[in-house]
Amino acid sequence: MKIETLAVHSGRAIDPSTGAVTPPLHMSTTYQRAADGSYPKEYIYARSGNPTRSLLEGCLADLEGGTAAAAFSSGMAAIMTVFQTLAPGDHVIAPQDIYHGTARLLRQVLARWRLSTTFVDMTDLDALRRAVTPSTKLVFIETPSNPLLKITDVAAAAELARLHGASSICDNTWASPVLQRPLDLGVDLVVHSTTKYLSGHGDVTGGVLVAAHESDLFSSIRQVQQDGGAVPSPFDCWLLLRSIRTLPHRMRAHSENAAKVARFLDGHPKVAQVFYPGLPDHRGHDVAAKQMSMFGGMLSFRVRGGSDTAFGVAARTELFTRATSLGSYESLIEHRASIEGPETRTPHDLLRVSVGLEHPDDLIADLAQALDR
Ligand SMILES: *Cc1c(COP(=O)(O)O)cnc(C)c1O
Repeated sequence: MKIETLAVHSGRAIDPSTGAVTPPLHMSTTYQRAADGSYPKEYIYARSGNPTRSLLEGCLADLEGGTAAAAFSSGMAAIMTVFQTLAPGDHVIAPQDIYHGTARLLRQVLARWRLSTTFVDMTDLDALRRAVTPSTKLVFIETPSNPLLKITDVAAAAELARLHGASSICDNTWASPVLQRPLDLGVDLVVHSTTKYLSGHGDVTGGVLVAAHESDLFSSIRQVQQDGGAVPSPFDCWLLLRSIRTLPHRMRAHSENAAKVARFLDGHPKVAQVFYPGLPDHRGHDVAAKQMSMFGGMLSFRVRGGSDTAFGVAARTELFTRATSLGSYESLIEHRASIEGPETRTPHDLLRVSVGLEHPDDLIADLAQALDR
């Protein structure tokens, strides 16, 4: 089935007790036991399971082409869970250009639990191969990357992990399952910050892990989810299900708009460099074209004149809100280095843009006046 159809029909069942077409929102924290002490309807207590969450998990597993999914209260809670399935002494390989929260978690929290990490340029498969040690248990992929839109060859990185007996995971937040399906390319797990495109309306914080196969790895993910307890609220699950119905159409519009904005910026004299995998001269364009159906709604660009000029351009835009995050219907612009902190590798003249669902002509006119003034 095509993704538009899955997005509409997955995680949807006519409610048997009322005939309601939209799934009900189940807020109950506890469920009645039978006289013999058993749980006839499978649900026991809200942390371990909730019917609205089950619908969401089924839907997300279908969208990614996986067999099982576990939903969390944030993207970072989902990412933390994967690392918590590992043991002290294990080794992780992660990209240098990775979501800064994931890098900070590995460097500042998990290092204390003796999980070691090597950060490599994952666009260079030889660098990835050289980083493997006998203790390597997980290869963490993020593509397109944040904020430089670097493209990792997902199939090649997953194959390399498998050859060395390590699991692989891909942070698919920026592409969404509409544009890229890492499980089809051979990775074991997909993670999303559902806060972004899957929510799409800037009003839910959430995360999900989707597994290619039911496995020991997924069983321990389920255990950390239920016993660790970083579960999403039923209402957040309900909002996500509601948002996912339009995801394929939103992703197409985000991608078409971003491609137009990228082409405009690419030709502008005040712009030094544009990072968008849809541009033919982007370093990762060929790999992106192979593994993505469209190039997404995120782009970054470097402004001639340094940090102050970059701040000035962001300040003069009128349709772009100066804010972090991405994937919502409205366009956002952000000076990225200043949110990433002192360890950042991001150039100080770089602005990151989440291209929204406004008309692209209006977005381009706004960027033009902000750059030219
Ligand atoms: C936002 C983001 C995260 C973290 O997700 P939260 O929902 O903020 O916890 C992880 N990875 C990527 C690529 C992100 O953009």
